Amino acid sequence: MTIGILGGGQLGRMIALAGYTLGQRFVFLDPGAESTAGHVGQLRVGAYDDEERLSELARKSDVVTYEFENVPVGSARFLNELVDVYPPPRALEVSQDRLDEKTFFQSLGIPTAGFAAVATREELDAAVRTLGLPAVLKTRRFGYDGKGQWVLRTRDDVARAWEALGAASLVLEAFVPFDREMSILAVRNRTGETRFWPLVENQHKCGILRLSTPKSAAWTSELQASAEAYAARVLVELGYVGVLAIEFFVLGNKLVTNEMAPRVHNSGHWTIEGSETSQFENHVRAILGLPLGSTRMVGCSAMLNAIGKLPPLEQVLAIEGAHLHAYGKDSASGRKVGHLTVRAESMKELADKVATLLPWFDF
Ligand code: AMP
Repeated sequence: MTIGILGGGQLGRMIALAGYTLGQRFVFLDPGAESTAGHVGQLRVGAYDDEERLSELARKSDVVTYEFENVPVGSARFLNELVDVYPPPRALEVSQDRLDEKTFFQSLGIPTAGFAAVATREELDAAVRTLGLPAVLKTRRFGYDGKGQWVLRTRDDVARAWEALGAASLVLEAFVPFDREMSILAVRNRTGETRFWPLVENQHKCGILRLSTPKSAAWTSELQASAEAYAARVLVELGYVGVLAIEFFVLGNKLVTNEMAPRVHNSGHWTIEGSETSQFENHVRAILGLPLGSTRMVGCSAMLNAIGKLPPLEQVLAIEGAHLHAYGKDSASGRKVGHLTVRAESMKELADKVATLLPWFDF
């Protein structure tokens, strides 16, 4: 089979690397001629809304998926007339707009922070009165890694944020005084078989994920059960096929949903070495209608993102259990250029290894 992928970044690249072992072929569509997935598969360069390129992708592919959630929904729908597209375009549509996404979670009884749509300065003032300060003002669309958002603590912040973001459609969210952040990775195949990986604790710096620890010390079976129940509702409601990530704020033993990503996710990279079946392989299995693989953890693991530049290979690879994934990208400030997963037999050993590795990562 040939799998078409919209987006040629590291996520597409890692889907292909996993899919090759199952004998699949890959073709990518991305606007960038330098896209890193081009090193491992056929790259077609074109805009995501170029119907000629999309038709060509459909002709070459038995099934199409995406690795980037800002692919225009219209393009996914156009493709879906020609070839199966998974996850379903509706998942893309819901996740592209923070207001629609929160309204969708709310309709399924999944807890979110209080929120209000903001299109005018008057609406912003009214939302601040209702939700109180601090609050977080976000663009409804195209925000990622903390971009397109402002934390409002004072009346002055409100005025400044409005000046910076006011031209866009916005949503104001109540500030969640969370203890930590966690995410769940779920996968559902074409027959409805569903699996979940353990909740992952995520630590960010400057809005970018730096460290992910599955089943960390803060993990509880109660949190896991809530996360699985919420994810299952989303999967069923959307008739979902593929890997889905949902990010949560954790307050005590409660989860408040932040956002979802209808694709393989950075907080699931540890699964390549840390789980019996990786998120990438299970995504391929799911969209091909194959049985899913076990999501059982293999030892203890943690994942560190390499932001801006790669760590020195000789030093980090000398650490037992360390596996580096370089994405074949040039160094650049703030860019995800690779990640490292380290595995250990116990959480104590894992903590020691992570402490040794951290100085090589900007964290
Ligand atoms: P997002 O782009 O929505 O994932 O937000 C990026 C980061 O900003 C999150 O990982 C949180 O650390 C923080 N953040 C976003 N929304 C809120 C909120 N409503 N309350 C507190 N922190 C938030």
